Amino acid sequence: MARKLIVGNWKMNGSRQANQALLEGLRAGWAELPTASAADAVAVAVAPPAVYLEQVGGLLDASEIALAAQDVAVADTGAYTGDISAPMLRELKVRYAIVGHSERRKYQGETDAIVAEKAAAALRHGLTPIVCVGETLQERDAGQALAIVQAQLQAVLAHNAAQLADLVVAYEPVWAIGTGRTATPEQAQEVHAALRVLLQEAGVAHVPVLYGGSMNAANAAELLAQPDIDGGLIGGAALKAADFLAIIAAAR
Ligand code: PGA
Repeated sequence: MARKLIVGNWKMNGSRQANQALLEGLRAGWAELPTASAADAVAVAVAPPAVYLEQVGGLLDASEIALAAQDVAVADTGAYTGDISAPMLRELKVRYAIVGHSERRKYQGETDAIVAEKAAAALRHGLTPIVCVGETLQERDAGQALAIVQAQLQAVLAHNAAQLADLVVAYEPVWAIGTGRTATPEQAQEVHAALRVLLQEAGVAHVPVLYGGSMNAANAAELLAQPDIDGGLIGGAALKAADFLAIIAAAR
């Protein structure tokens, strides 16, 4: 069985002090995990706000936990006020970049086309994009969930056809994010299987498909046991070391 990938998306949370406490807790807890759930069984990354990437990178030094960014710019350099480019992230030893999170689609107006270009920017510079897809409750109720997420993923696959090997996909139903309402393992598996078909058709069936949306210590094991759920993208439960470690342990 392939290694599961567990990514903590801190969103706009943290402070220098809180980051340090969280990372110290994570590293101490990590050292105590049974060996079967350590680096050989689970890959782990955390995505702090960009201003803290350098601090968190330092705190993760010589650990098995990788660094992820929450976003990446389309362009590599130039007149794009407020943006942070893939080459800049690479300088901070960032390994993954989340792209197309539903909060960015909603609040920053990111379209499928922009998300596809952001994934391309990451891939161009050796960052692994974690491409987020997910339907709203309205779309699910209208029976459109599969069509929506397939279209979102297809936009990225079509734009990046030549370099898809190093990609991660995250299925995050919008109605499950931060709501405490998780997709059932069956609901998630159905969508993951549909995404897998697209990845298969693109020749990259191995690309991990993570689940995100109120994943926590209590429901992680059941979700992660589904055949097409290859890991988790964790928001709220990634902000407490004990909760995040419990999810890591469940992923073994
Ligand atoms: P949540 O967020 O775990 O707090 O629901 C997940 C995400 O948005 O990545």
